[in-house]
Amino acid sequence: MGLTRDFFIALSKNQLLNTGAKKWGLKLGASKVVAGTDIDSMMKSVKELNANGIGATIDNLGEFVYSKEEALHAKENILATLEAIQQRGVTAHMSVKLTQIGLDVDDKFCLENMREIVEAAARYAIFINIDMEDYSHLQQTLDILHELLKEYDNVGTVIQSYLYRSEKDLENLQNARLRLVKGAYKEIAEVSYQSKQDIDANFLKLIKIRLQQPGFTSIATHDHHIIDAVKQFVKENQIPRGRFEFQMLYGFRTDMQKELADEGFAFTTYVPFGQDWYGYYMRRLAERPQNINLALKSMVSK
Ligand code: FAD
Repeated sequence: MGLTRDFFIALSKNQLLNTGAKKWGLKLGASKVVAGTDIDSMMKSVKELNANGIGATIDNLGEFVYSKEEALHAKENILATLEAIQQRGVTAHMSVKLTQIGLDVDDKFCLENMREIVEAAARYAIFINIDMEDYSHLQQTLDILHELLKEYDNVGTVIQSYLYRSEKDLENLQNARLRLVKGAYKEIAEVSYQSKQDIDANFLKLIKIRLQQPGFTSIATHDHHIIDAVKQFVKENQIPRGRFEFQMLYGFRTDMQKELADEGFAFTTYVPFGQDWYGYYMRRLAERPQNINLALKSMVSK
């Protein structure tokens, strides 16, 4: 499995394929986990989720942006999505990757783009989550977040449990809204736990620390062992349900998503859409061999 994971992570970073895939439309089974390439099809999925008592965090897909022009284009798309959320009155916020809006071009330029996005979202009372990318972007991402938090409270980020430093990062972000995850990228042993056992143990440890801090927490996982442990912990420690939510990705464990919402837990589904689906989809294939079977089936049936 290690080799397969490495292979798909490597594919996710292939820029030629990332660029090519924008012209293909949703292929290789991606339509199961990506809610279309335009706002209208994405909104259809969001409304269906809302009808089941589930909110959405919308990702206007994009990454590996190395020019100002592309970054500005991505920012405009995000602003248009915010406007659509407001106009259509859906229960949704947005997730944004900083490399999409210029982190690899220039930090200050990226901060200005982000400021514009968070400012527009604040006018509509919409929260903006900054997704966490690979370790090489982590410090810049946290620096930009801390700048934004001086002016806004409708912005937060993601803490990856596979990183040794995450416990310290949690301490410095006690009041911010945070999403806790295991971590989706391939990082070296100098900075991150490598075994599933160690990552799971740290994930649960960080969740427990975090649920006793003041900020709102999104626990983002498809792992029923973790979800069961969280349910038990919040019950034993009388953590009010308004202080946290569960999150899963669009198209994954949809029955369990609905069950958790029906049980009265706040629930948000991560809804990616757009033409830039390739890198996102390859990381999902890296995470789970069953997803690879799904992709292979769709390749032979088309
Ligand atoms: P895994 O370790 O993948 O799975 C654990 C166990 O759960 C499996 O062995 C299996 O028994 C069960 N299981 C898992 N999936 C399924 C399934 N589909 N069907 C049936 N059983 C299943 N990562 C980042 O690095 N940065 C981010 O910003 C980020 N944002 C995310 C947002 C959301 C909403 C989610 C859900 C994930 C996000 N991730 C992010 C990805 C995350 O870091 C993990 O890579 C990903 O969620 C896989 O880990 P897992 O916790 O779901 O459990």
